[in-house]
Amino acid sequence: MAFSDIIGHKEIIKALKTSLVGAKTGHAYLFMGPAGVGKKMLARELAKNLLCLGHCGDGEGEGDLTGQCESCRLMERGLHPDFIPISPIGNSIKIEQLRELQRNAYLAPVLGTRKIFFFPDAELLTEAAANSFLKILEDPPAGVVFLFTAVRIDHILPTIRSRCQVYQLFPVPPEEITIWLKQKGLVESEAIELGLTCQGCPGAALNWNGKKHAQSESGTGIETEITIHDIFRQDLLELFKIAVEIEKKERPEVLALFQAWQAELRQNMVILAQTAGGSTAKIRDLLFCTEKLTTAMTMIESNVNLRLVVEEFFLAVKVHAK
Ligand SMILES: [Zn+2]
Repeated sequence: MAFSDIIGHKEIIKALKTSLVGAKTGHAYLFMGPAGVGKKMLARELAKNLLCLGHCGDGEGEGDLTGQCESCRLMERGLHPDFIPISPIGNSIKIEQLRELQRNAYLAPVLGTRKIFFFPDAELLTEAAANSFLKILEDPPAGVVFLFTAVRIDHILPTIRSRCQVYQLFPVPPEEITIWLKQKGLVESEAIELGLTCQGCPGAALNWNGKKHAQSESGTGIETEITIHDIFRQDLLELFKIAVEIEKKERPEVLALFQAWQAELRQNMVILAQTAGGSTAKIRDLLFCTEKLTTAMTMIESNVNLRLVVEEFFLAVKVHAK
């Protein structure tokens, strides 16, 4: 991985590289954007650059690392001792985790001169937990950097937001995603289709593609992917079993699934609208589902219980279909 391997977000990458070259990096960054757009990848790459032990420059792209130093190699393998992810326990990041963070932040880094704390789901910081470490976030020990990624800015506490350099990641143009998918070995038709339907989120495109292949190899449905057509076809009992499986997934993954359904619905509506004599009643049904989907997605982003949201969506679709 290198900055040049990240698809899209060229302006942000340019700004980050400039600050790295000029040794003018900050101590707290917040990357915002939809699931699968590339926030975590960007945060990890920034971390790798910050932690690099040096003499590692002149990789393939301008300002890219070759990734040959010990630090870069450990980052690539996800084993860097000074890159510390703070993931939620259950549904939130707990105050005890931040107490441990504060203790750890004052210990010397293992490898170099920096230590990075990474919050991949920053919206899951409770207010109490966040308040407990504002002081260190504002004025951290030398070499300590905080990286946050989140889907929606309004779910990030203003006290956190105001202490960070905030970067908003926007959807990547479909043509760029298509080219990238082709480079990853996808056939042209598949790359074009995924590029158009992934809503500018390369991670989501790759996820669906991976699942599609997993599905065709394993021959099972529930574990891998369920399409909107499956939802229309299955009875409620079967759908509730599926809801249990969906609940086991990570929240961004569920969001990506809902985005896939949304794209599928939109495609169906376009096809129906273009078909001569296309049924307006059918289009209205699909519109109803789209509305329910949008509501469900907002609820997923607001950390409402996943199973409840999914069940409620299935129920709305099935009751409406009767
Ligand atoms: Zn390095």
